[in-house]
Amino acid sequence: KPLLIGITGGIGSGKSTVARVFSILGIPIYFADERAKWLMENNSNLVKEIKNAFGTESYLPDGRLNRKFLSEEVFGHPEKTKTINSLVHPAVKKDFEAWTNSQHTPYILKEAALLFETGSYVELDKIITVTSPIKVRINRVLMRDPHRSEEQLHAIIDQQMPDEEKTSKSDYVIKNVDNKLLIPQVLQLHEKLLKLAKEN
Ligand code: ATP
Repeated sequence: KPLLIGITGGIGSGKSTVARVFSILGIPIYFADERAKWLMENNSNLVKEIKNAFGTESYLPDGRLNRKFLSEEVFGHPEKTKTINSLVHPAVKKDFEAWTNSQHTPYILKEAALLFETGSYVELDKIITVTSPIKVRINRVLMRDPHRSEEQLHAIIDQQMPDEEKTSKSDYVIKNVDNKLLIPQVLQLHEKLLKLAKEN
């Protein structure tokens, strides 16, 4: 079984970009947030549970998730957020385990925005946090998603766990800052993780 490495970071930190560099090195990546969205539409058991909890309106007639309805349902209702998480997280956990068992590399990466917040870090052997200054993150996301506003991004960042707390809970930190080359940092960490996997 491969070593299980988590990779996380706040919005715009560059965690997906960093994960893609590992992927070029041949490391399989489980993109947890995207996979969760996929499971919410394609795992029939999960679809049934969501419909039972939130009503049939949670899906559009074509079977796609009614994101607008669901986000309005949970907005400002922490108990409803808890309910949806209690349905989605176990499904992702199971799916991740099955995926992991079919991988044959020394280690794999699980990329997720909320690795600490969801508690999924406890299933992982090591955690990488990608950090960059808030100003840089906001500028990057505004370039990527021009429909977003700076205020909206500040609001999202305020809701996320602060970088200092994430890094203190992590085993490795990648600083994705413009004056610090990214690829050499990834290569160095890749070497370390291969060595660690060998020792295990
Ligand atoms: P989100 O949580 O929003 O998914 P993320 O942490 O996965 O964000 P990315 O999507 O990897 O972040 O990066 C945000 C944007 O910044 C992307 O458009 C990406 O191409 C760009 N970016 C990331 N790192 C760098 C870098 N070192 N130099 C230049 N651009 C970068």
